[in-house]
Amino acid sequence: MIIIWKGRGLDKANKSYHVNTYKRYSVEFVKGDGVYLFDQKGDKYLDFLSGIAVTGLGHNNKQLVNAAVDQIDNLWHVSNLFTSTPQENLAQKLCERSGLDKVFFCNSGTEANEAAIKFARKFGKGKSTFIVANGGFHGRTLGSLSASIQEKLWEGFHPLTPGFNNVPYDDIEAIKDAIDESTIAVMIEPIQGESGIVIPSKNYLADIRTICDENNLLMIVDEIQTGFGRTGKFFAYQHSDIIPDIVTLAKGIANGLPLGAVLCSEKVAEIITPGSHGSTFGGNPVSIAVANKVIEIISEDVIQNVNTFGLLLKNKIENEYLKDILEIRSKGLMVGLKFSSEIDVKTLAQDFLDKKVVVGTAGDNVLRLLPPLIIEEKHVDQFVYILKELFKKMNISTKAS
Ligand code: PLP
Repeated sequence: MIIIWKGRGLDKANKSYHVNTYKRYSVEFVKGDGVYLFDQKGDKYLDFLSGIAVTGLGHNNKQLVNAAVDQIDNLWHVSNLFTSTPQENLAQKLCERSGLDKVFFCNSGTEANEAAIKFARKFGKGKSTFIVANGGFHGRTLGSLSASIQEKLWEGFHPLTPGFNNVPYDDIEAIKDAIDESTIAVMIEPIQGESGIVIPSKNYLADIRTICDENNLLMIVDEIQTGFGRTGKFFAYQHSDIIPDIVTLAKGIANGLPLGAVLCSEKVAEIITPGSHGSTFGGNPVSIAVANKVIEIISEDVIQNVNTFGLLLKNKIENEYLKDILEIRSKGLMVGLKFSSEIDVKTLAQDFLDKKVVVGTAGDNVLRLLPPLIIEEKHVDQFVYILKELFKKMNISTKAS
């Protein structure tokens, strides 16, 4: 296909019709296979970002392709006014894996959190405020944005939605102190992803559960980034042996197709009545078909793989003397490398890309690694090899140097 460039006096390299919401890399990927991506020239890249915790089962997974193709082959659409057995099947599997009772389907993470906020407010019967954590990220629409306590995200978007009281993350006493007669829920990420893979103390979630029980509050856990095996349990809250009242999901749920979900307990679900909430596209047949396959494939073996190679990755990085890595934050295959101010992680991410490895950045100068759940030792070795090479180039001490 020949594209005739009709930009107003600008050459193609400088002109994009895309609203400038992302600072994009210039590489354009045209296909993927397993843990690799391929650019227009056919160059192969190791994908250690997975579409930001989305393609946990890798690219071009034939079981998922077939599930999508079978559905799309006879493309049809009704609406959520009609019964859907595939939706029921997925909802049942999600309830079985989570310990919760009911599911609402939407299209994205921010929508899942919006729904969770509405469900909690309706449940609260007049109690309407949420305790949320500094540095939290729950999405970009106004409710979830207001719950995301990062001032840089708010710039230019005031007035925000009221009713979100913030406390420091990983501070149980602060949550206790923040509770008042208007509080209905504590809304929390089990690990803060966008803020730089911030892992709270071991008992944090269990203590929040206890506080919520004692004060008759709902516990809402945002598993949008951490769910679907990413941290070495199917859901990250399962490391704490608790069951929240509401769990929000998206990202890995359909390995790249748009789908979000809210899981909730019976007591929350029963206050939601027809007309309370809805979505035209939520739970669309193609995404649901793929998600039904995703949940089937993420077996204990896949989760074991996450634990094995998450640990190996951590150990292999740790075993190098990489003095500018101040901290390795890792749980399963959710890994953050916190760098000293000597290293700018955005530049480092570009350096990795030049070496054909895709990584991300987050929070306070953290290199973010979210490889597919299906990686093997050779992929870990490839990443560590490139990391060492880049450090050598920058004259930073490694064991080898
Ligand atoms: N919640 C968390 C924890 C996230 O990491 C994200 C996205 O990064 C969201 C919510 C928003 O999800 P989405 O981009 O699908 O709206």
